Amino acid sequence: MTKKIVCVQCPLGCKMKVDLDESGYIKAIFGNKCPRGAEYAKDEIKDPKRIVPTSIKVLYGECMLASVKTDKPIPKRLIPELMKLVRKIEVEAPVKSGDVVVRDLFGTGANLVVTRTVKRSANSYSENRKRNICKSSA
Ligand code: SF4
Repeated sequence: MTKKIVCVQCPLGCKMKVDLDESGYIKAIFGNKCPRGAEYAKDEIKDPKRIVPTSIKVLYGECMLASVKTDKPIPKRLIPELMKLVRKIEVEAPVKSGDVVVRDLFGTGANLVVTRTVKRSANSYSENRKRNICKSSA
């Protein structure tokens, strides 16, 4: 079996082909212009990883949500668990871009970090909710 993979490690985006045997073991990798591509292809076959962008709830903020992302790629298989965790998270404003919300997610070494600043609001949470106010800046 042959799998097609596009390397995303640099802007060249090499199109690779990975030959696998019946057990799913890698026999050969073609199309990569450097060793990083081969490593990426191996990861994609064995345990694909992604940086995950999402958002968390913010209390007393000018915006009800703050965007966050993992600061390193995490295994795709952990994304459903991450989403369960994210749905439970509530932080109080203010939050600043770069704040760490959760350290070492599931022992991966990746942190969940804020990517958009949300200032504290002079209005109540329910007022902001009614008005749908969101004046945050990055
Ligand atoms: S294989 Fe190397 S040159 Fe090609 S996209 Fe990946 S990192 Fe870039």
